[in-house]
Amino acid sequence: MNLGINSHYDIAAASILLIILLMLAAKKTIPIKRSFIFFSMCVVQIMVVVCSVLMESEMSIAGHAVGIKAYFFADLFFAFEYFCTLLFMYYMLLWSGKSFRSDKFAKFMFLAPVLAYIYIMSDNFLHHNLYVLDAEMGIIGTKRLLILGGVAIYAVLFGLIYATKHVEIISFGKLTVITLITLLVLAGMTVQYFLTKDFFINYVVAIAMLILYEIAQNPSGILDGNTQLMNRQIMEEILNIDIANKENFDLIIIALDDFKIVNKTYGIEMGDVMLHQVANFMNTLTRRGKVFRYGSDQFALQLRHGHEDIDEVLDTIKERFRHPWIYNELAISLSTTTICVCYPNDGDTLNGLIEVLDYSLLYAKRQGKGSVVFTKDIDLNAMRKEKAIENALAEALKYETLEVYYQPIYNTERNCYTSAEALVRLKDEKLGYISPEIFIPIAERTGRILQLGNFVFEKVCEFISENNLSETTIDYIEVNVSVVQCMQENFVEQMLEIMNKYHVRPDQINLEITETAEIEALATLQSNVEKLHSRGISFSLDDYGSGYSTLGYIHQFPFRIIKLDKLMVWNAFENEKADITLKYTVGMLKELNVDIVAEGVETQQQQQRLSNIGCDYLQGWYYSKAITAGEFANIIERKAS
Ligand code: C2E
Ligand code: MG
Ligand code: MG
Repeated sequence: MNLGINSHYDIAAASILLIILLMLAAKKTIPIKRSFIFFSMCVVQIMVVVCSVLMESEMSIAGHAVGIKAYFFADLFFAFEYFCTLLFMYYMLLWSGKSFRSDKFAKFMFLAPVLAYIYIMSDNFLHHNLYVLDAEMGIIGTKRLLILGGVAIYAVLFGLIYATKHVEIISFGKLTVITLITLLVLAGMTVQYFLTKDFFINYVVAIAMLILYEIAQNPSGILDGNTQLMNRQIMEEILNIDIANKENFDLIIIALDDFKIVNKTYGIEMGDVMLHQVANFMNTLTRRGKVFRYGSDQFALQLRHGHEDIDEVLDTIKERFRHPWIYNELAISLSTTTICVCYPNDGDTLNGLIEVLDYSLLYAKRQGKGSVVFTKDIDLNAMRKEKAIENALAEALKYETLEVYYQPIYNTERNCYTSAEALVRLKDEKLGYISPEIFIPIAERTGRILQLGNFVFEKVCEFISENNLSETTIDYIEVNVSVVQCMQENFVEQMLEIMNKYHVRPDQINLEITETAEIEALATLQSNVEKLHSRGISFSLDDYGSGYSTLGYIHQFPFRIIKLDKLMVWNAFENEKADITLKYTVGMLKELNVDIVAEGVETQQQQQRLSNIGCDYLQGWYYSKAITAGEFANIIERKAS
């Protein structure tokens, strides 16, 4: 083998490597081993280039007799060049996110090329048996150099395969690019072996390093633009590595309360300034731990066990949030909900931990602003049950095993059933019957309510059309719709599309909505209700008397019916004050010209009194529980012709 040496390629390679180093220095580094190994690879590669140039100049000075200095630089050149392949193997092992400490086979497979490298290199330093330097021919490799090349190829492929096997941390796309550029380098080495005139391999490696930097090491893809904190993706990667290495840690999440209000009141720019300030404050809380941006208004602080006192950190957070955050003479008070999760006590996998973390956040938010919750104080069984229900609901939606029951509603004037309420039923093989009171809020939180709502509405429309409802005394079916559904931009179109499909008339549908404190898109909700109302669909306000600012709701929306909550009805029969309230409520609602449905009618006494005070419709077990579609179809009366 004869390698001609050409320093133009080396100068270009050195320039590229220096640019990478400058970029690394200019940006914030991600404090993980992978960054350090990449940095080391760059430095070692620069050493390769430097040695290669020095060797070349020594050889040209020496004329025909190659001196000891040239051998010295050539030795270093080979040592660094092949050391870099070992570093690359380690780099890829780190990308796998797995620790092979407990995997003896992987450990051996990793150590074998390292030992082979150490043996071959040290032997070369003593006996110069890897190559011969010739002033005219350049570097003449021996068989040993071929063996070293084999070791390098093995190391590179082992690293790639190991990372591919555990393709969780790194995306498939990135891994493919890394594989391609690695194959490019290997191909370059092979070509170099035959084309000895130009020494270009350092240049190829430098280009590969530049691509590697761009796709895998460029911190701008990992850091949050505003706060310069590491984002959730890298947080998950770091936690995964710690979990694989069984390094115990605590995680404190602080979630700013009502941060949307800050954005709305002071503007997004000021919101960003506040987030930046909170991020800076979080950075002061730890010297050895790490800070991440967990969500748009949430931060995570990872503390290693035994290094920092979690109570002290929590006290500092509490104390800081007692004071306002100042910017341009503006003082803004922020409050935060804080949770603490501990690995491995609260979960021994990343997914398990994140599940607990999200549930704890939800729980803490329910406790009220400013609360601090330790996961150890939460009943995690409740979370697991909720998860099981979530899964049961997902299954039921997938296999369409949800059922829609109907509870007939009695018309006190016409003395027959003139409507019915559609009520969804979920039965699970393992969990048994699950009440909608339990699974509807879960469906709302997880977004499944949209699919569920459409399913129920479609079933109702199908029922109306199959049973020729217009020929019976049943004028319309009441369908519960969640506010989450009504706030969707395409809600109106979806409803109308389903009705058209089954040729259902608008007056055969009545949509029930329950008042709620958490309306995020009031304008969309109002406009959707208006649009459907203008098409002839009527609306009911459900559970009146159980909630909040009920009168505001009645004024804001065009309700045709108000449904009195069952507790309001029941209380009236137990307590005189509640009875007076009910009587005057009915009177007031009559004045407002709406129809009244009393829910929860269970006894004859209730039925009589409620019709006497003026309720137009009665619904309850006194008449019928919710029954299957088939049972309901059987009791519907045909219209007298
Ligand atoms: P809701 O809309 O107020 O429905 C009335 C609830 O009272 C039903 O409970 C019904 O079975 C129950 N009920 C009716 N009469 C009596 C009675 O005389 N005594 C007693 N003790 N209970 C009576 P259910 O079916 O468990 O539904 C609970 C809630 O779940 C509903 O309250 C509604 O808010 C929600 N829901 C049910 N189906 C759907 C649905 O398809 N979509 C949505 N978004 N929510 C639904
Ligand atoms: Mg209802
Ligand atoms: Mg109700």
